[in-house]
Amino acid sequence: MPSHDPIPTPIPAPMTAASRFSYRCTRCNSCCVDKRIQVNPYEIARLARNRGVSTAEARETFITADSALRQQEDGRCVFLGDQGCSVHADRPLVCRLFPLGRVIDAAGKVHFVPYPDPLAARGEFGEAGAVADYLEAQGATAFIAAADAYFAFFCRANARMGADTPIVADPDRDLLDIDSEIAAACTASGVAEPEDLLERMWLHISLLDEMLDR
Ligand code: SF4
Repeated sequence: MPSHDPIPTPIPAPMTAASRFSYRCTRCNSCCVDKRIQVNPYEIARLARNRGVSTAEARETFITADSALRQQEDGRCVFLGDQGCSVHADRPLVCRLFPLGRVIDAAGKVHFVPYPDPLAARGEFGEAGAVADYLEAQGATAFIAAADAYFAFFCRANARMGADTPIVADPDRDLLDIDSEIAAACTASGVAEPEDLLERMWLHISLLDEMLDR
């Protein structure tokens, strides 16, 4: 037997929403340590509201310059406390999907893949439901809509401007801050700001698209 057999992956890949899958978290918190958790403006707004701070403060305090959750000195997520995730109701999509990743291929087809490090997933795998059931139980629907909306915008921006061109050259604007962009736009137009966060996300996307068109 070879001495470096690959570690067996507990779930097959790739999977669709209909694939049999279940996972029971055992709260070992290993998925919250030394992980890069990328977040989009909708997720930052959810975290900001959870913490009772502005999106600008949330970006400053909890988010790195390249839009990931900050980590504590020992590699634990900035939101991981003694009792587990302190922002559980508003945790980002990556956390909701774990131990799955969601991939969109070049043809736009969505599939799900196992987290690349099977040792990080210490819960109980099974086939008691489907991937779609797991996503629903994790409250992932709104987060997937937001992830797809921002991904589509960045694809449009890259196609229009090239990946290396900054989307806007104005250093006084933070384009990815939903609240400041919406406040500025609604003040300028005299329109009331929507309260619902998903509505705000769609308005933010339309503001970004308007900026691309200019
Ligand atoms: S946001 Fe919560 S679930 Fe996600 S990595 Fe941080 S502590 Fe873990």
